[in-house]
Amino acid sequence: MFRRPRVFGALAGAGVILLALLAAPAGAQPSAGAPPDRGVYTVPAGNAAARTAVAGSGVDVLGTRDGTMTVVATPAQARSLRAQGFRLGQVGDFDAMLAERSGPPRAAAAAAEFPPGDEAYHTYAEMTEALRAAQRAYPGLARLSSVGRSYEGRELYLIKISDNVDRDEAEPEVLFTCNQHAREHLTTEMCLHLVQRFTARYATDATVRQLVDSREIYVLPQVNPDGSEYDIAGGRYKGWRKNRQGSGTDPNRNWDYRWGCCGGSSGNPRSDTYRGTAPFSAPETRAVANFVNSRVVGGSQQITAHIDFHTYSELVLWPYGYTYADTAPGMNAEQARRFADIGRRMAATNGYTPQQSSDLYITDGSVNDWMWGVHGILSYTFEMYPRTSSGLSGFYPPASVIPRETARNDAAVDVLLRAAGGA
Ligand SMILES: [Zn+2]
Repeated sequence: MFRRPRVFGALAGAGVILLALLAAPAGAQPSAGAPPDRGVYTVPAGNAAARTAVAGSGVDVLGTRDGTMTVVATPAQARSLRAQGFRLGQVGDFDAMLAERSGPPRAAAAAAEFPPGDEAYHTYAEMTEALRAAQRAYPGLARLSSVGRSYEGRELYLIKISDNVDRDEAEPEVLFTCNQHAREHLTTEMCLHLVQRFTARYATDATVRQLVDSREIYVLPQVNPDGSEYDIAGGRYKGWRKNRQGSGTDPNRNWDYRWGCCGGSSGNPRSDTYRGTAPFSAPETRAVANFVNSRVVGGSQQITAHIDFHTYSELVLWPYGYTYADTAPGMNAEQARRFADIGRRMAATNGYTPQQSSDLYITDGSVNDWMWGVHGILSYTFEMYPRTSSGLSGFYPPASVIPRETARNDAAVDVLLRAAGGA
């Protein structure tokens, strides 16, 4: 039910009614075209083939942990899964849970603003200002640029951090990307934490100084700013995952490596894992890919390592996602062992669970498969805090966890930065 008070009849003038209508929070309305009556369910699925079947049914997979998936499903999807023999446990109504998490509607919420209590999370404007502030405070270490624009025209900001930042030195380059998925706001904070750590602590932290001096670090805090802004529009969470092109493309199914090959994405535009009309049909993935392509200098890719941050489930994942096989074209046994070895070393520092991406379920068109398959970049996905969630707290943990859960990855990030040099 809407909470809008039914007082219009008591108001005197049409102008007052118009103002009241304008002040109604946009988030109180179901989002246009959203399927009705979406439920949140737990689904036990004990092996990767079963999980691939669940993910492939078109449900929105929120998280997967210890053989249980948490998904958002329409009534038809729930019926279909039950007909296939899956046992669904209903957690709640998706939209009611979103409304509950967002708190009471506010009369005059800004266009994009986190709900009360979550203001420590950065909106796009606040993220932009944080990056500008880093460049202003540390002009010798940080240089802000953009790899292009989102579908709605927002700059896709990229900040480079290194000593002699204005020179392209002969140092291994490492890329960190965040927020491909709109509602995974903790990841934007993760990237901003990296920026803060590698600039503000340079003068006093010997490890930071050594890494910044010997690497060229690129941080892209919001790959999907349109989706992220939409997710918080009017101060109400929407549970939105995709970009804002048409009914939305899942950026992490849109990369041009074995795109749509293997049942690990959807061809249905309404699906939350819609792969788009073509590889790189999303301007956001195309722009990031163009940047990575531009780092081929003298025939050799300068970027040697990459982490793409997501939430949630506390996992360290590596390619390939499109196949269950450990080895495949472009991934020999030695390379697979190196992925696993570095993945496990990182996971040993943050307590995440390390595994090949397809051990979870099949995905195709993911960033990791493209980074490795096309460029030979040691590319990982981190699924951040929390480990499990029965509902929406997985995407919307309280802002109080931001410092702890971002710093938790410091040592893992350092492992990767060292590995980028061949160690
Ligand atoms: Zn994600």
